[in-house]
Amino acid sequence: RREQALAAAKEDARTADGKRIQVFANIGSLNDIELALQSGAEGVGLFRTEFLYLENDHWPTEEEQYEAYRRVLEAFNPNPVIIRTLDIGGDKDLPYADLPKEENPFLGHRAIRFCFSHPEIFKTQLRALLRASVHGTLWIMFPMIENVSEIRQAKELLAECRAELVNEGVQVAETIPVGIMIEVPAAAVTADLLAPEVDFMSIGTNDLTQYTLAADRGNEQVAHLYDAAHPAVLRLVRQTCLAGKKAGIPVGMCGELAGDTNMTEILVGLGLDELSMSAGAIPEVKARIRSVQTDAAEAKSERALAQSDPDAVRRIAQE
Ligand code: PEP
Ligand code: MG
Repeated sequence: RREQALAAAKEDARTADGKRIQVFANIGSLNDIELALQSGAEGVGLFRTEFLYLENDHWPTEEEQYEAYRRVLEAFNPNPVIIRTLDIGGDKDLPYADLPKEENPFLGHRAIRFCFSHPEIFKTQLRALLRASVHGTLWIMFPMIENVSEIRQAKELLAECRAELVNEGVQVAETIPVGIMIEVPAAAVTADLLAPEVDFMSIGTNDLTQYTLAADRGNEQVAHLYDAAHPAVLRLVRQTCLAGKKAGIPVGMCGELAGDTNMTEILVGLGLDELSMSAGAIPEVKARIRSVQTDAAEAKSERALAQSDPDAVRRIAQE
């Protein structure tokens, strides 16, 4: 039975009526690669690169980063690996960086905002990514995007790094899809304007939930309010999926909700193309996908969107 389950986990996941849903892994260090592969990950939907910065006593060099990116790309080759650029801010402690304390770090100078004001640090990472791109299928993803000019600025810096490397005679993959995380409500609400600028979008429900519900994701006292199954969050997910379809680009989800097995049917019904989660959840999510009928899932998700609180959504999900 166990062997059967493991073998099934390695197969692609299609709904009962044949719609393919890609099931990827979230990984937060090179140590996570093995388990992700064993669990049937068809790629990496979110490689959090923060560990390179947090588990270090200096800003990681281009060479150090290149080595890490190359290893994960080779491990999953030819499957895609979505590497997210640095998402760091006032809530994290980098002993060597001396980041100023912020009153509201989650509303502050984090992620892409931090990278734009530290272009040398950002460009070091982009150069390492571009160099590693020849070792597998790299997709680059920018965090905390909330408007179109941020996308353009990030893409410009990426193009600048590419030109530098080409000039230096370094090989870089011809096409590298560039995408964004949808984790700020503004980005979800305007996803139709952002989608034409990128090759893919991935919904980060951890931040999207805290920003939408004004409930700090790490604060126990408001944990009862923090639920990604809130219809407000699901409506933003729906809106993002529709925008992706209209622009002809795939939409994934890499927040914790993606690995919530009770919600799989509703997520398929909302129109997600890819779900990325911690490795442990992959076999069960694949099994759930296989039992889904997409028209029934769509009807269920419509009903979920009409509820006024997350508990009602979760009751529907359990039916
Ligand atoms: C998210 O916000 O949902 C996400 C996947 O990113 P992180 O948890 O690293 O903030
Ligand atoms: Mg996030």
